[in-house]
Formats: sequence, structure tokens, C-alpha cells
Amino acid sequence: MEQKTGLILLLLRVYYGNRPGGSATGEKEENGKERRSTMDYTAMKNLMTFDRRHLWHPYASMTQPPPVNFAESASGTHIRLADGQELIDGVSSWWCVCHGHNHPKIMEAIRRQSEKLAQVMFAGFTHEPAIRLAELLTERTPAGLNKVFYADSGSVSVECAAKMAIQYQMASGFPGRCRLASVKGGYHGDTAGAMALSDPDGMHRMFSGIISRHYFAPQPQSRFGEEWDPADFVPMEGLLDRYGHEIAAVIIEPVFQGANAMRFYHPEYLRCLRKACSDRGILLILDEVATGFGRIGKFFALEYPGIVPDIMCVGKGLTGGAITLAAVVASEKVAEVISAGTPGVFLHGPTFMASPMACAAGCASLELFREYDWEGRVRCIEHQLKRELQPLSELPNVSEIRVLGAVGVAALRKVPSPETVQRIVHETGVWLRPFGSWLYTMPPFITPEHEITRIVEAMRRIAEA
Ligand SMILES: *Cc1c(COP(=O)(O)O)cnc(C)c1O
Repeated sequence: MEQKTGLILLLLRVYYGNRPGGSATGEKEENGKERRSTMDYTAMKNLMTFDRRHLWHPYASMTQPPPVNFAESASGTHIRLADGQELIDGVSSWWCVCHGHNHPKIMEAIRRQSEKLAQVMFAGFTHEPAIRLAELLTERTPAGLNKVFYADSGSVSVECAAKMAIQYQMASGFPGRCRLASVKGGYHGDTAGAMALSDPDGMHRMFSGIISRHYFAPQPQSRFGEEWDPADFVPMEGLLDRYGHEIAAVIIEPVFQGANAMRFYHPEYLRCLRKACSDRGILLILDEVATGFGRIGKFFALEYPGIVPDIMCVGKGLTGGAITLAAVVASEKVAEVISAGTPGVFLHGPTFMASPMACAAGCASLELFREYDWEGRVRCIEHQLKRELQPLSELPNVSEIRVLGAVGVAALRKVPSPETVQRIVHETGVWLRPFGSWLYTMPPFITPEHEITRIVEAMRRIAEA
């Protein structure tokens, strides 16, 4: 049987004049292992050519496209490429696939829902998945934080949260409170409104013509797990004192600043912020798009400081990463004030709001959180990452190691080229995608110990390259 397969592959190779084990990027096979091709090599090559000519990838040049892998299927911790190679997904496909890829329960929920009701406008209609998901979600949010508005993506949820804050202040008789405040090093998404709230030294400048101006305090300096320095909150307090009459809300990523900093800060900062906002009639928006659903060890990061925001954004892991969906959860007070004001309605309504299939996936994902010990899994990953990543700090190219929950970051002095990273990805069979100066892993919670070890080994290879 083995021999027969080998013969067929050989014939195919002769017929197509290609290596069946060749990677989808056309790179040379390094380890010489024979891989079972699951797709016609010529067809795949043609598709890849079209991709390079016509498809824009995230943060990529269209004329000098970076290498991409041809994904064909995925399950659990693995992404299978069209050339048959399997990659361990070390970044949970941008931090969202928390229970692993194509979880049978989530897939089944989407399938069943698609047979009944794939889409219906949410204005004038409601449906069971939307209701059930709001029930499951608000069982997890703090008491009083229970008014759910569905959005299409994390960025859109941030836009909605900002609009809610503005409408709240208007309805409260403070129309002058039409800006927001945040901290440097934040990330809240790529749409214009969300960009304007993200790190002002990032993409901000290029788009200064279209984005609103907000206020930014310095990045919190006290690190998670270290001693709290009360001086840390002084600049934010000063900012709120000075400009509070213009500020509708403060938005912040709780505990973990993701895409623009990859850094964990002291929860005490959030307790101070909660109090400072409350004292001044300013709303507090927590952007839990990255931290929600267990990523840094608690179901929501707000559990570290034990605070309740006025508005909270969730996304990424909401559907277990199966399909795009986000939500804004507002307090009863925010909902009541907006609804009692003029015009008495919240002014937002996306076409695909509360997509039934996405909500069904969300229900399945939240149910999964009850069915296995995700907390124990995240704790194991955290301990292992602490143990195995720490030695990398001795490499000359590594300036710092940071670990919390299922997040492990190596701050690099110099990040190798995308081509070098791609080569190491193929050699190690581990998918990692460094950005900025950070090489990090955010594995699915189900990743077994030996695969975490392989991820760390791949990180070492990249750091040493
Ligand atoms: C990813 C992210 C967003 C944006 O979510 P998208 O679904 O990519 O629009 C917003 N806030 C935080 C904290 C994020 O990590």
C-alpha cells in the first residue's frame, strides 16, 4: 500500500514535473520528508499565482507580496496545507481559535443553524441563537453589565462602544463630552474610529486627516506581578482633571495591551481608573476583544482588578474563532440613559447584526467553556511557557520574556525577515507570525504539552535566526 502510494506520487511528479512535497509557496522542501499532496499541484499553483496578483493580505504589499501558506483544512491545533504539511497553530489564528480549529460542536452548531435560518435582519426580527448567546454571555459578565449589542468584528464593537459613550453623555446633558481618552501603546482595531483610539504613535499619523483627536495618557508602567507604583496613575488622573469636561469615556485593554505593546500591566491601574472615571461622570470602556474568553487566565481580564466597566467589548474568541462576531455589553445605566434621551435609540445597526450562524457558533463555544477545564489548561500552558520560554532571555536577540495565561512573548531586538520566518515555519512545522519587535505565542487552550515545547523551540529558532 505504502509502495503503491509512493509509485503514484512518483508518476504524478513525472506527469506534472513537480515535487509533490513542494510547499505551497514554491519553496524547497528542507527536511526531505515525503508529504502526501491533497490537492492537484498545478491547480494549487494557479490559484497561488492568482492570489499573488490579485489578493491583498493583511498589512501586506500588493506588488511585493510576502509569502503565504495555502491552508486547506484545519482541526484541533493543526492547520493542514495544500501540500500536505501540517502546522501547529501557535497563534490561534490571530488569538481567536481558543478551543482549537473546527471544533466538532461549533461546526455542528453552524451546520444545524444554516439549515434552519442562515440570515435574517435583526431590525424587526429576533432569533434563538441571538437570545441564547446573550444569556450565556451575561451569565459571565459582572452583575449589572447585561445589555448586549452585537457587532460584526472587534473594531466595529469599539466603534459602537464609543458611540454609546457619546450618546450617553449627550443624553446626560453633556454634549461637550465628545472625545475619548486612552493610554499609549493600546490597540482597538483598524477602522477609523478604532484607529483613532489606538496608540497615537502607530498608524495614527498617516491618517490624521480622517481620524478624530482623543487624549492619551502615558502607557501604564507598573508591570503585572510586580509592585504597584502609585505614581503610575498620576498622569491619567491629571489628564482627566484637566480635560474631563470634554471626555465621554476612557477606553483601555484591561491588563494586557495586545497588538501595539504585547505587555501586561498592573491591575491596580484599572482600579484607580474605575474610581477616577466614576468620580468625574466619565464612562469606562474595557476592550476585552483580545483578553476575553480565558486568554490571560481569567474568563475576563476585568476579574484581575475586580472592577465593573460601563461598557465592554468582546470579539475574537466569542465564537471560538469559528466565524466573525463581536458584542458590546453595556450597563443597565448606560442603556437606560441612552434610551431616555434624544433620539431615544442607539444609532447603529449593521446589515449582518446578530448573524444567526455566528451566534449559534458563539453559543456552542460558550457551552464548551463549561465542558472542559479550560482554566486548568491555561494554567498548565502558563507554567510551561514560563519554564521553557525563560531560558530564551539569555539569547542576545531577546530583550525580555513575558508570560501570562496562554500568552508568551519574546521581545526581540531584531525580527528576522518574513522569508526567514517562513523557512523556519516550514522546517519546524509551527506557525508563528512575529510583528513589531514581538515574537509571541497564543496557542489554543487544548494544545498538548509536547506541542507547546515545539512552539517554544520554533520561537528559539526564529530568535536565533
Ligand atoms: C483584535 C482586536 C480588535 C479588533 O478586532 P477585529 O475583529 O480585528 O476588528 C480590537 N481590540 C483589541 C484589543 C483587539 O485585540
